[in-house]
Amino acid sequence: MAYDYDLFVIGAGSGGVRASRIAASFGARVAVAEEYRIGGTCVIRGCVPKKLLVYASHFGEDFEAAEGYGWTVGERSFNWQKLIADKDAEIDRLNGLYIKTLQGAGVRMIDGRAVVTGPNSVQVAGKTITAERILVAVGGWPSMPDVPGIEHAITSNEALHLADLPEKLVIVGGGYIAVEFAGIFAGMGVAVTQLYRGEQILRGFDDDLRNRLAKEMVAKGIDLRVGTNVTLIEKTDGGVRLSLTDGSIMDTGAVMYATGRHANTAGLGLETAGVELAPNGAIKVDAYSQTNVDNIYAVGDVTDRVQLTPVAIKEGHAFALSVYGGMLTSPEHDAIPSAVFSQPPIGTVGMSEAEAVAAGHSIDVYESDFRPMKHTLGGSSERAYTKMVVDSESDVVLGAHMIGLDAAEIIQGIGIAVKAGLTKAQFDATVAVHPSSAEEFVLMRNKRD
Ligand code: NDP
Repeated sequence: MAYDYDLFVIGAGSGGVRASRIAASFGARVAVAEEYRIGGTCVIRGCVPKKLLVYASHFGEDFEAAEGYGWTVGERSFNWQKLIADKDAEIDRLNGLYIKTLQGAGVRMIDGRAVVTGPNSVQVAGKTITAERILVAVGGWPSMPDVPGIEHAITSNEALHLADLPEKLVIVGGGYIAVEFAGIFAGMGVAVTQLYRGEQILRGFDDDLRNRLAKEMVAKGIDLRVGTNVTLIEKTDGGVRLSLTDGSIMDTGAVMYATGRHANTAGLGLETAGVELAPNGAIKVDAYSQTNVDNIYAVGDVTDRVQLTPVAIKEGHAFALSVYGGMLTSPEHDAIPSAVFSQPPIGTVGMSEAEAVAAGHSIDVYESDFRPMKHTLGGSSERAYTKMVVDSESDVVLGAHMIGLDAAEIIQGIGIAVKAGLTKAQFDATVAVHPSSAEEFVLMRNKRD
């Protein structure tokens, strides 16, 4: 049977765009449908706008530091509306670049929400389109718990477009998004309260990073309350009133939920094609991103493997190489470096100390706690910390972790070494870059007792 396309991709985010482009480069006839804007979560309402806001919010501290370096900084003021307009213009620019890339690759872009109507067919913009293969790359969407009054809460989506900066903001959650946005808004002068239901923020990260970040956030004025959740949200004239699990009541300008993200599969018609989903709605795939239906594949957040843009891109690329490039490639999910753009930032790769122990390794831990050089004259009391978890039998570095200035930039290079399975001795044999914070990773000599 002749199909309209060789490949129909649903969702033009990081994973879908990469897969479309690479498949087309191998000669496949590709169409991609997008219901909102080309670029997806990362470009439109995730990594990119978030990082621009992180830069913006850090200037307050940078101005203070500048005075320690001999600068006189005049009167300061901050214009949220200008920042948001400039941020939106940058996103428009990137969106345009993504469109150009797809056009250049010969990929047909279709505006609209595509719904699967069978193993080889989708319906979009009122038309049925057939394809030999379908790739689902529709990403995820913020999950909100079933708290009475939750309709009065916002998510990170709305936080990036607030008409005005509130005086007070409550953020619920203790993951990546919650700590990043707490830092952003606190840096802009908003009185931020962060509520986390567990014992310590960033569950799953190395405990030393978690404890140190919590301490630094409190030092920056964030009212961090662990073991606390919201039981009721009520609208007030000035914002919202929250009832908390500790029995207290809080009035605040807005409440933002950052309580995880779920796969965007509702109403996608996957059941009509017999695609198997996990109980949380994520699409089940094998090591080559293939679903239980032979010609339907899925990549990125919709598969809930690792919810990170570069992982979605790798999965999309591997899919196109495997299916259209004649190079069977499975995206590797081990030793994935990642950064939390908290203030200070975190960079991490490999196993935490607790994970290494739980996996049965006998380990040595190396650590260094220091004041980054920039802060000596800059005056900030913020500290930095590096940590390595090493298998004591093989000397292989199982995990490397950092919190402090430039941690995100530093961990990328360290990630190569950890992914390559290098030993502590090979780190030690590397000459330090001096003076830097990164050099701690080749200078840590003393085992923790
Ligand atoms: P996370 O899964 O990181 O964190 C969710 C948080 O919400 C956890 O602290 C969780 O608590 C809490 N939570 C879950 N359900 C409830 C509830 N019913 N009531 C109260 N708290 C609740 O999700 P995020 O939304 O922060 O981010 C989604 C994903 O996006 C991340 O996992 C990450 O992979 C990705 N991301 C990556 C970034 C980066 O690379 N820098 C930046 C932003 C997002 P508990 O720990 O108890 O489960």
